[in-house]
Amino acid sequence: MRLSRYFLPALRETPSEAQIVSHQLMLRAGMIKQNGAGIYTWLPLGLRVLQKIEAIVREEQERAGAVELLMPTIQQAELWRESGRYEAYGKEMLRIVDRHEREMLFGPTNEELITDVFRSFVKSYKQLPLNLYHIQWKFRDEIRPRFGVMRGREFLMKDAYSFDLTPDAARQAYYRMFCAYLNTFSRMGLKAVPMRADTGPIGGDLSHEFIILADTGESAVFCDRELVDMAPPGLDLDFQSDLKPEFDRRTALYAATEEMHDPARFEREVPEERRLAARGIEVGHIFYFGTKYSAPMKAHVTGPDGKDAPVEMGSYGVGVSRLAAAIIEASHDERGIIWPAAVAPFSAAVVSLRPDDASVSTVCESVYGALLKAGVDVLYDDTPERPGAKFSTLELAGIPTLVVVGPKGVKAGVVEVRDRATGAVVEMSAEAAIQKLVGTIGG
Ligand code: ATP
Ligand code: MG
Repeated sequence: MRLSRYFLPALRETPSEAQIVSHQLMLRAGMIKQNGAGIYTWLPLGLRVLQKIEAIVREEQERAGAVELLMPTIQQAELWRESGRYEAYGKEMLRIVDRHEREMLFGPTNEELITDVFRSFVKSYKQLPLNLYHIQWKFRDEIRPRFGVMRGREFLMKDAYSFDLTPDAARQAYYRMFCAYLNTFSRMGLKAVPMRADTGPIGGDLSHEFIILADTGESAVFCDRELVDMAPPGLDLDFQSDLKPEFDRRTALYAATEEMHDPARFEREVPEERRLAARGIEVGHIFYFGTKYSAPMKAHVTGPDGKDAPVEMGSYGVGVSRLAAAIIEASHDERGIIWPAAVAPFSAAVVSLRPDDASVSTVCESVYGALLKAGVDVLYDDTPERPGAKFSTLELAGIPTLVVVGPKGVKAGVVEVRDRATGAVVEMSAEAAIQKLVGTIGG
């Protein structure tokens, strides 16, 4: 992508309405634009990040055996009356009336809709286990939308729903998602800590929020420090096997959100030097709720004994759009965003210090062409801006590697390779730079 043809409306000043660093940086780097309270346009750079996050979420869902579909954003009130949630959901639900006076709503979540899909097609235990997910926009009329996309009203969520014959099988489905989440967040460069969360009226111990520690987080959390640095299960995990041991290893250590916090237990179980009371951002939430929807909505399956019973369900959410902001909260410096490689909007940029110098342009074009050909997501800054302005925009936008080409270097046969995270600058030939980049980030 040539920057001269791109749309990257970066801002010089920090917008005064943005209170937290991720919101400030997303606005300044030209990733998002607000269109209404809690409603945003994802500008090209922001959209690229969103799509990279989505791709990782999708890959890890598939690896764990979940199957993608796409449900609509607009739902019929009728379904929500069946589950009893239409009145209960309250003002967060955006209710709509169509031209035939039919009551509709913009989905804040999809338990009812997926249960309706399920009951239409699945009747026998032989079709289980099943886990269906989608990545779709939700609308919740939050009382206080704030912090940019961190707490929006319209936001992108991955929501998966598991269906099993028995509570034991449903628990295994829960463990699979639990492990998949640890891998997912780890691939984004995040340390996400699973914390015991409120299970609501169903009880039991199967609800966890995945929390990124950050001072600006909205949740107060309490955990054993050991948990923060614990390695994820890893991408070669066998999702067919019994994953309870993986689950148990982590849940043996204390970690709870404020609502679930039991100070006496915290003090009894966690040695003082390992006690961590902190703030965090909820990026995922998983839940086993049994037959809460399948019973009233009559989503029954026939078991091997020929008997009918409501299917056992769980749901598993990831805040895809919130993650873009959460990653920035976790990874930035005074100059701007530092994207982990896996979610960077562009992996690298070729920066021409003198677009009016033919010898510089020749080298830029050849490096840019070679990187594109090798499948590297590369931006080419071919604009006539001053070098200082170019660097501040690219550093603000968090591009991990810059290949800087100027007239002096071209005469000496070298380009500069700059690393955003470490600030390291290394001179090498253009060929060596191409090889280095293709070797580390080539597609
Ligand atoms: P919160 O406690 O932050 O309001 P929630 O518990 O209502 O979230 P869930 O229903 O568990 O949210 O939704 C799954 C995920 O969707 C959350 O873990 C979060 O990452 C994301 N999410 C929820 N509400 C919002 C929002 N208003 N804006 C952006 N992301 C959100
Ligand atoms: Mg939640």
